Amino acid sequence: MDTAQAEQAFPLNQQEALRPATFREQTLRKRRLAMSFTSYIATFSLVAFCWYQDLIPGQVVVQYAVFSALLNGTFLCLIQTNLNLRFRDPSMTIPQMVLSLLPALWVMFFLDSGQARASFLMIAMVPPLYGMLGLSRRQFLMVSLTFFGLYGLLYLSLLAFRPEALTGALDLIQTLAFALVMSQIAIIGGFISELRSKLRERNKDLGEAMAKIQDLVNMDALTGIYNRRRLFEVIAEESNRYGRCPGSFSLCLLDIDHFKDVNDTHGHQAGDAILRSVAQCVAKGLRVIDCFGRYGGEEFLIILPQTPIEGALIKAERVRECIEGISFDDISGSLRVTVSIGVAEFQRGEDPDQTLARADQALYEAKHKGRNQVVTHDSHGELAVAGEEVAG
Ligand code: GH3
Ligand code: MG
Ligand code: MG
Repeated sequence: MDTAQAEQAFPLNQQEALRPATFREQTLRKRRLAMSFTSYIATFSLVAFCWYQDLIPGQVVVQYAVFSALLNGTFLCLIQTNLNLRFRDPSMTIPQMVLSLLPALWVMFFLDSGQARASFLMIAMVPPLYGMLGLSRRQFLMVSLTFFGLYGLLYLSLLAFRPEALTGALDLIQTLAFALVMSQIAIIGGFISELRSKLRERNKDLGEAMAKIQDLVNMDALTGIYNRRRLFEVIAEESNRYGRCPGSFSLCLLDIDHFKDVNDTHGHQAGDAILRSVAQCVAKGLRVIDCFGRYGGEEFLIILPQTPIEGALIKAERVRECIEGISFDDISGSLRVTVSIGVAEFQRGEDPDQTLARADQALYEAKHKGRNQVVTHDSHGELAVAGEEVAG
């Protein structure tokens, strides 16, 4: 996301306007900052102890505290105002790691004892460990080099301004050991980051495989629409929903007329092609919330949420006309296919199997009445052929 997009998506000073995922990430960043502040407080105790032991002047302790508070306060402000979302890395991992070294280096500059400086070097190695979870191999190397560069700067400053504080060989050994440890951390960090990106890749593949499996489980292989299993799942979901909420859903059960004859005359392959065309014809006229699938051999089911029987009847008529209008020139110029449709509306309190049974009864009536028509079955057991009443 670029700066302009980020600004549009996340208006500043409006935490509640953030998308839930971004809000969660920002909260996590604040929690991480709180963790790092705790480690500053622990180091502060050590700095204060150094002063207590007369290893550094009192003002350095105050400077350390102010410096640390300023650093953490700035990062907190950036997150609190969502300004960090404008950065390429909103977690600000590298700046937090590198800047956290500065207060410690400041204290080290005033320490007279080389051994005490070594203790602070140990503390300086903690922030790169946090980076192991977020940085790439290259970033890790850069951070290690920056750390070593900053330490080198401290060494040069001591050499220039306080040469008496240096203890010759000891400081050199410390510097070399620091370089050694930092390069090891960089190598291990890079290795971990490589493992993480492989893991991310695998998770992505796994997600895609899961989606494919889900498709295989829910889809009909021949027509590419939902299969019977998925249809029953959706019917159960809809009946649960309308068991509690106002409104209702309707079912349209379609059966291709004389399909056995079509197969016998034109062959099974042609029959399969017809099934695909019928499926396409129905699917293209549906709303996003509608659900359509293959119920069985040459039978299809449309589930129409938020649709009472009157609306379902209109929809079923349109579907019937659409199928009647399909031309199968590639099979036979004169071939026309028709469907009979039974429609029923779910009644609150009934088992969805009962709704299906009523749709099936209406379909049977449509066949009985001559096929290529829509019949509805209402809650009172009334059957009606597209407008005209046929049975009580
Ligand atoms: P009606 O108008 O009463 O529905 O007559 P019908 O011939 O359509 O009904 P019947 O149940 O007698 O025959 C259904 C036919 O559907 C029989 C079967 O060969 C065919 N069929 C079922 N599934 C498939 C399929 O996947 N591919 C093909 N090509 N034909 C199928
Ligand atoms: Mg049938
Ligand atoms: Mg049939």
